[in-house]
Amino acid sequence: MNRNSPVDLPEGYVEFYKNLETWQNEQQIRLQQKCSYERVDEVLPLLSEQKKPIMILGQFVVDPVQYRAVFVSLLAFMSEARPDLKEAMDNLIKDIEQLDFQQLVKNLLNGKYEPFAALAETYGISSELLVFLFEHAVRPFLRIYAAPYQEQLYEDTFQHWDFPSQCPVCGSKSHFSRLRPIDSRRFMFCDRCFIEWEAKYLQCIHCGNDTPGTIKYLSIENDESHQLYTCEKCKGYLKTYNEKQGGRGVDLFIANIETIYLDLLAQEKGYTNHDV
Ligand SMILES: [Zn+2]
Ligand SMILES: [Zn+2]
Repeated sequence: MNRNSPVDLPEGYVEFYKNLETWQNEQQIRLQQKCSYERVDEVLPLLSEQKKPIMILGQFVVDPVQYRAVFVSLLAFMSEARPDLKEAMDNLIKDIEQLDFQQLVKNLLNGKYEPFAALAETYGISSELLVFLFEHAVRPFLRIYAAPYQEQLYEDTFQHWDFPSQCPVCGSKSHFSRLRPIDSRRFMFCDRCFIEWEAKYLQCIHCGNDTPGTIKYLSIENDESHQLYTCEKCKGYLKTYNEKQGGRGVDLFIANIETIYLDLLAQEKGYTNHDV
């Protein structure tokens, strides 16, 4: 059991994600020298004007040969971490030459999942698992792409970017924020490309509601550092790590996973993160 969690997560659940993150970090370091991306200049005015994530505006593409190597490495990682999936991973490796990585990654980044469903069926695995593999193999590339934008995007992002729940670099939806200890300003976190951006402290990230008294927060007994912010207008919620209460910075990727009990609590109380 995870000692921070009032509910029992499945055995090895958090450990698996910690190891996956370590693997991704290693891939990122290895790829750092090999990947160079064209930069979009002056991103803030562009975001205000175009209202689209930088990845779309900058036409981000992944080299299919490099991607394939990362994908193969992920299959090896998965075989080790999840022996129950080894056979499925071996079947994928056997057919690796047949897979059109250029097209598949393009589909993934555009949120087109139908081709994955068809492909998963031929391997006798779930479409969710196949998408999970493609998604996690693309993240080291996305993080390299996103990192140089962090400084520009950090503070006052909400003045230029109208979609606080959506990552301004990769467009992924965020479910987690932190409050900075010195001034309690709120920074959203993207667990996909690892970018943070500022959202207003007391405004619902889902519907924009900021009527006084309708944004509330709750936390679990004995833990003031992990909080839920809820909106009475759209019944949305946002998980938040209060760094001041917690007394230290945390790995936000892992904190999001470790706090599944907050999602359960929110849903029990009738709130939603508005995921489709
Ligand atoms: Zn992102
Ligand atoms: Zn709302």
